[in-house]
Amino acid sequence: MVITFYGTRGSIPVCESGFQEFGGNTTCVAVSGKKEGGSVLVFDAGTGIRKLGKELISKNFSQGNKIFLTFSHFHWDHIQGFPFFAPAYDINKEIQFFIIGDDAPDLHDFKEIFAKQMESTYFPIGIDDMGANFTFTVNKGNKVAFDGGQITVNKHKHPGGAYGYRLETEGKVFVYCTDIEHGDSLDQNVVNFCKNADVLIHDAQYTPEELPNHKGWGHSSWEQAIGVAEAANVKMLYLTHHDPEHNDDFLRKVERQCQQRFSNCFLAREGQEVVI
Ligand SMILES: [Zn+2]
Ligand SMILES: [Zn+2]
Repeated sequence: MVITFYGTRGSIPVCESGFQEFGGNTTCVAVSGKKEGGSVLVFDAGTGIRKLGKELISKNFSQGNKIFLTFSHFHWDHIQGFPFFAPAYDINKEIQFFIIGDDAPDLHDFKEIFAKQMESTYFPIGIDDMGANFTFTVNKGNKVAFDGGQITVNKHKHPGGAYGYRLETEGKVFVYCTDIEHGDSLDQNVVNFCKNADVLIHDAQYTPEELPNHKGWGHSSWEQAIGVAEAANVKMLYLTHHDPEHNDDFLRKVERQCQQRFSNCFLAREGQEVVI
């Protein structure tokens, strides 16, 4: 499994100098197999998805291999890159949007989320005029078979709710858990959901000092993310959804603090690839 960060920034993109090491694009993570040219599974379509799209086009991603897009939730920073995803304009590409969850939106509403952000008031091209072959799937429940393995979801606390994803395939476990607010103590459902993950990507927008001033904003501190990793016996922890006010110097310092506590903890950098 190859996990690549295309967007690591939370809330809004930032493009100032001093933010380029960790990156300015909003959330997007792609998972593919180790062989080049297979299907790709994309978590969230923040502005980082633009670069992924360019790479998929340049690699001449083959016609038979699908692009799967799924979403933690639909706040702007997780969908705003989609209109700039080049494969969506290629009539030879097949893109499957899917979500899982008991209270996931119904099929019509799911498609409408993307259609609406491309209405003519906001964007010159409508979703139906993009060109690629889109399919939308809503799976009620909490589990689907995927790529010889399975994907499980867990709904966690965030304004409007958000879902974590656990992908188990090729004997490896990957958990994607962003836009989560634990509250005063760690959410034990989340800890259980992350059990024995080889790689956990977890929200860490705030420092422990900042967190009390952001109650109800829907995010975690790095200390909470490490708490989850420790309690769940996670092997490697990647922190993401970096606050737009935290520049590279700040994040490097945070990373050193994190590694003193949990040596296999890294702050995700845009472009970084993790192979397990
Ligand atoms: Zn977000
Ligand atoms: Zn959000």
